[in-house]
Amino acid sequence: MTAVDALPLPPPPPLGGDVALFLDVDGTLLELADRPDLVRVPPGLIDSLQAVHERLGGALALISGRPLAQLDTLFAPLRLPAAGLHGLQVRGREQASLADDAPPELAAVLAGARALAARFPGSLIEDKGTALAFHWRAAGEGAGAEDALRQYAESVLPRLPGYFLQPGKDVVELRPGGAHKGTAVDLLMATPPFQGRTPVFVGDDLTDEHGFIAAAAHGGSAIVVGERRPTSARYGLRGPAEVMAWLGRAALAEAEVAR
Ligand SMILES: [Mg+2]
Repeated sequence: MTAVDALPLPPPPPLGGDVALFLDVDGTLLELADRPDLVRVPPGLIDSLQAVHERLGGALALISGRPLAQLDTLFAPLRLPAAGLHGLQVRGREQASLADDAPPELAAVLAGARALAARFPGSLIEDKGTALAFHWRAAGEGAGAEDALRQYAESVLPRLPGYFLQPGKDVVELRPGGAHKGTAVDLLMATPPFQGRTPVFVGDDLTDEHGFIAAAAHGGSAIVVGERRPTSARYGLRGPAEVMAWLGRAALAEAEVAR
């Protein structure tokens, strides 16, 4: 990391009413957990999301690596505009989804991955349908899980034409190409209620950089959450608690306008 990359980024300005807001979920709205199923939705977050969604005329979308169905469960009763599987699924565009056709070879790859993960307690293979995520966050450093899972994922890549490796925080994902978080932003920005607004993308991980670049291309900006650098984001927030406070202030502004 260079000295320039290490410079802290300024906090974002208050959220304007003309914004189209794109929010990553894990590590951005929610603190990361040892396993994806152990995340906690903090009290008040759902109310804030609902208020900001209303204030922005509906132009608030979740852009996550999780499948859409998981997003709806996590944030129930909200059913927000959303893209899942890093842009492979976009709500309302399910018919054009790239997420439905898993290659036959993927089942054998999954079985091999599970056999390998069984040798590294705390590691986890997440079956996302067309994508597979290899997690080692709970395995602990020095256990060898990261090297073993990475090597396995790389070794099976030639068996899955059109697939690539998406690295993340304590995870690597085998997923089909053809879409990413930036293409999800492009799709949403082409239709109401997002169209004509200024996009702001908030995310913490490498896969969010695609969203950051798309937001800038549409005349908007990005907010990186946490310490990961380098980044193309112009603004920074330190963690999900700061994101929630920033959203909370935007929700409060809505309450004042309504009064
Ligand atoms: Mg994230």
